Amino acid sequence: MCGVGAILRFTGESVVEEALELMAGLQNRGQEACGIAVTHTFDRTKLTRIRKTATPAHEILANAVWVGEVLSELRGNAAVVHTRYATALDSGRDARAAQPHFHDHNTKRLIVASNGDLPYCGHIRRELEDKGYDFASNCDAEVLAHLLGEAIFGDGMSEEEAFLHLCQTLDGAFSLCAITPSRRIFAMRDRWGLRPLGLARFDDGIAFCSEPALIEHFGAVEELPAGTLVTADGNGKVKYHTVAHPKPLSRCSMEYFYFSQPTSTIEGESFATIRFRLGQELAEQMYAELRAKNLPMPDLATSVPYSGDDAAEGFVQRFNELCLADDLPPIHLASVIRKDRFVPKRLFQQEETARRQLIATKFRIDRTRVKGKRVVIIDDSIVRSDQSTQLTHMVYRAGAESVYYGSTAPMMPHPCFFGINTPNRSKLVAHGRTLEQIREKIGCKVLCYLPIEALYRVVGHHHFCTGCFTGNYPMSVPENGNEI
Ligand code: SF4
Ligand code: MG
Repeated sequence: MCGVGAILRFTGESVVEEALELMAGLQNRGQEACGIAVTHTFDRTKLTRIRKTATPAHEILANAVWVGEVLSELRGNAAVVHTRYATALDSGRDARAAQPHFHDHNTKRLIVASNGDLPYCGHIRRELEDKGYDFASNCDAEVLAHLLGEAIFGDGMSEEEAFLHLCQTLDGAFSLCAITPSRRIFAMRDRWGLRPLGLARFDDGIAFCSEPALIEHFGAVEELPAGTLVTADGNGKVKYHTVAHPKPLSRCSMEYFYFSQPTSTIEGESFATIRFRLGQELAEQMYAELRAKNLPMPDLATSVPYSGDDAAEGFVQRFNELCLADDLPPIHLASVIRKDRFVPKRLFQQEETARRQLIATKFRIDRTRVKGKRVVIIDDSIVRSDQSTQLTHMVYRAGAESVYYGSTAPMMPHPCFFGINTPNRSKLVAHGRTLEQIREKIGCKVLCYLPIEALYRVVGHHHFCTGCFTGNYPMSVPENGNEI
């Protein structure tokens, strides 16, 4: 998962400041690295320039020297930005892996910034290497840049043909923004629509972004349909091209629980509202479980901030309705798990020791409100269980009588091949373990996951991928589970 965005102004005025703001806003989707590419659609004498760095967007934008250099060197009316989240075999914080990636041919430059992974990327990369391509990184987006460059400069395809051919033939997840050699902005979403991408058209320009909330000040945001390429030139000509056979829409369901910003919307509904309803469903599940086992009701519920906040509200609201109906006292919503704002969010770390240390310093528990209480922790999901285990222990150490744990995502026993950092089955706590074994590992008294049927009830349609919950992926995936 990464963040991508693009802005093009038909007036010719520079978009660099706006693009940097967009990049900053996208850091919820990736904090390993970030980058910007800028071109000028009217002045072909200026190169299309890139600046990228293995520094999170919020850190680099606090660096006045870096920002000053970008603003003075990269003037132009079209820009693409990226924030990077490293996936399975990527190299973490490595400037070479930062995006956008590029393909140069003489003085022509193609820029690609993408969100997603290609399940068979290794094979494609080896074919390109056999043709003589060197790769600076092991990012799938660099493979995309060379595939497109090869199609345009090697096979003589038009830019549109090259992108549409790729979209039509390539398996995988890619929502991408590009600056083409003809200095147009292209934006494209794979045939399944796994990763989000929205666009806003306004009087003198167009903007694209993984997070609708970040571009709605430009104008109404529409979701780019799966299997669609949108092309925009500096004169204001915008065209939509759709591949012949888009697949059934399969948005990543983790967007609903975790990735998207709460104020971003999907089909007119904010993710905050959807998470509230997921919390209500989880309350029903947990309430039924506690009643069935004759366990005491909790005193209070807390979220794992911030992605669990809206779900925790929904949880308490519904839980209290159920309590009221049974003449039981209500529970309280209390933010007893606090996140330290000044600890960087790098839970995407591959190294387990580093991950554990980060969790320990990232969260603080309000002992005064936890002592002697039965506490329900509402989390968006449980992937490896490092965080859920540590938080459970921290709340117990703070004096809680008992800890119940709820996940608004169903159990995740299967890896993702499309851009989420869950590549190896053995790292997933739900792989090969029963619910009771997971509960024991986490150390909580009660553990509840949202059933997948409840997810369908909340979202109201089946247009999403459930691969990591069910093992049914929208396309074929490698047998060994590690080829990303
Ligand atoms: Fe999202 Fe899971 Fe599908 Fe990956 S497998 S795209 S994480 S729903
Ligand atoms: Mg990859």
